[in-house]
Amino acid sequence: LMQLFRPLDMLGWVYRSIRQGLIDMGEMFRLMDSDIEVEDAPGAPALVVRQPTIAFENVVFGYDEERTVLHGLSFEVPAGHRVAIVGPSGAGKSTIARLLFRFYDPQSGRILIDGQDIAQVTQDSLRSHIGIVPQDSVLFNDTLRYNIAYGREQSSDAQVEAAARDAAILPFIEHLPLGFETPVGERGLKLSGGEKQRVAIARTLLKDPPIVILDEATSALDTRTERDILKTLRRVSEDRTTLSIAHRLSTIADADRILVLEQGRLVESGTHGQLLSQDGLYAAMWMQQLADDDLNEDDETGDRQQ
Ligand code: ADP
Ligand code: MG
Repeated sequence: LMQLFRPLDMLGWVYRSIRQGLIDMGEMFRLMDSDIEVEDAPGAPALVVRQPTIAFENVVFGYDEERTVLHGLSFEVPAGHRVAIVGPSGAGKSTIARLLFRFYDPQSGRILIDGQDIAQVTQDSLRSHIGIVPQDSVLFNDTLRYNIAYGREQSSDAQVEAAARDAAILPFIEHLPLGFETPVGERGLKLSGGEKQRVAIARTLLKDPPIVILDEATSALDTRTERDILKTLRRVSEDRTTLSIAHRLSTIADADRILVLEQGRLVESGTHGQLLSQDGLYAAMWMQQLADDDLNEDDETGDRQQ
């Protein structure tokens, strides 16, 4: 009987923990995946990545049976390329990130990394190859150092510092009396949305994975900090495969390819220039953002309000 109650207990605990900011998305994925949603196939081998390619093959997915969110999605990201996904809110962009991290399994179709179906390899090995900066980062109720080094606990102080510097959070940390030992989260120092994003970025930089997923990773940053961090992320993503879900189109205009998603379907794809000349949804979104940017010109300093 206890076996039956365990998943429910776990759900309650996960829910409370998220509310309290005790655990981050990665941890939540791990807990929910291993205990509730997806399980390793019996005798599943580890993912072996030589060429970090990503392929979605006719992926159909919905969170419940009533509504399909992704309607047979297919696309490829060649090794070392930076592919961006844009589209209206609710189109299914974050869902793609969650499926790639195997928070859920598709109802049909396959997701491949370097030719291996991610549903057929161990989750630990899959996740060790992917760095994800989620849309809303939640921090562990622990020190800044712990939050940055999570998953790479053996990192040296110099490595943690370098990651913090590259994520543009080092000056902030150095001004705190306790520095990297400052407790954060619910019972510690409250960080702004932008500061939390930078901690998550520092963690990903330190993890140094072959595949990086950025889900509106800089959406809570002011324009100037965003520009600095994007420069870093671009340098870091040079020799790795990056899936970049974009909020501000200007941040992904130089991607190798841009996929435009609308209501779970790929409606356009190409480079920024190609998409502009198609004069479709992307071009309309681009014009809209140019107009919005003109209105928000004074909004240049400080993290955006959450
Ligand atoms: P986007 O990131 O493009 O804004 P999402 O991938 O987050 O969109 O969501 C796609 C659709 O799936 C939306 O209609 C959203 O309401 C729905 N959805 C997202 N997460 C869940 C969930 N956990 N349970 C049920 N529906 C969800
Ligand atoms: Mg989203």
